[in-house]
Order: sequence, then structure tokens, then C-alpha cells
Amino acid sequence: MRIGIGYDVHRLAADRALILGGVKIPHTLGLLGHSDADVLCHALMDALLGAAALPDIGRLFPDNDPKYAGADSLQLLGQVVDMLHREGWQVGNVDAVIMAERPKLAPHIEQMRKNIAGVLGLEIGAVGLKATTTEKLGFVGQEEGIAAQAVVLLN
Ligand code: MG
Repeated sequence: MRIGIGYDVHRLAADRALILGGVKIPHTLGLLGHSDADVLCHALMDALLGAAALPDIGRLFPDNDPKYAGADSLQLLGQVVDMLHREGWQVGNVDAVIMAERPKLAPHIEQMRKNIAGVLGLEIGAVGLKATTTEKLGFVGQEEGIAAQAVVLLN
């Protein structure tokens, strides 16, 4: 078995969609990035790749490559899973936390879990996910950005 950890941050900006775990969430701000900036999927990919000691997403999907402009990060997550399968790994379970001051994410957590479980080929019971604020502290609390952290187990 192998464990992996991933962490990612994206800046909040006007005129951008807020996409987390493949769910488009109504909000006045969205995340800035070359791809769709789905910070949760990015943290998950880095955790999965890290567990297999493969290069991180910055190297796999460079943000200066036009191919990944506006990329659907759920699809990229699917590519990472295919890569792991080719290396002989299966995903056992994943667990993640989104750090965001606003909006309230609770109504969207189940759909994000379903999306992630679908792409990873897992039962929804193997996908842990929660959201927290940071009590108005720091860049998350000041609504400058959203962060996500993930851990995974491969076997
Ligand atoms: Mg990212």
C-alpha cells in the first residue's frame, strides 16, 4: 500500500466560474487558473501522483501548455487514474478537505463526492470530503483564495 498527500490553492477572482469537484457552484467569485482551476481535483491528483511517486500535475499538465487552457480538471483526474492503473495501482480510498470562507459548500458536497467516485471508479463510501472555513483568518478567511488538501491510499 502507498499513501499520498496533495495540496493546492487558487486565487478568487471576478468573472470566473467556481468549480469544485466538478460542480459549478453559484457564487460572486470564481477561481483563477489556466485550467478550470478546480482546486479540489488538483489536490486529489497530486495526492494520487505522489502516492505513486510520479511527477506532479505541474509537470504533467503544464499551465503554459495551451492544450490545458480551460481544461476540465475532472477529466484530468481521469487521466491520472488511467496512468496509475497502467502502473499497476488501484485507488483504495481518498479523503479531502476544502478550505473556503464562502460560499457554503455543504449543499454541494454529495455531488462532488459522486463526481469524484465516478472518475476514480470508487464507491461513494470510499470518498471522504468536507469543507471548512478558516474563521476569517488568513488568505482563505479574507476570501482571497480557496485551498484544498487531500490524502489517498493506493494498493
Ligand atoms: Mg491548481
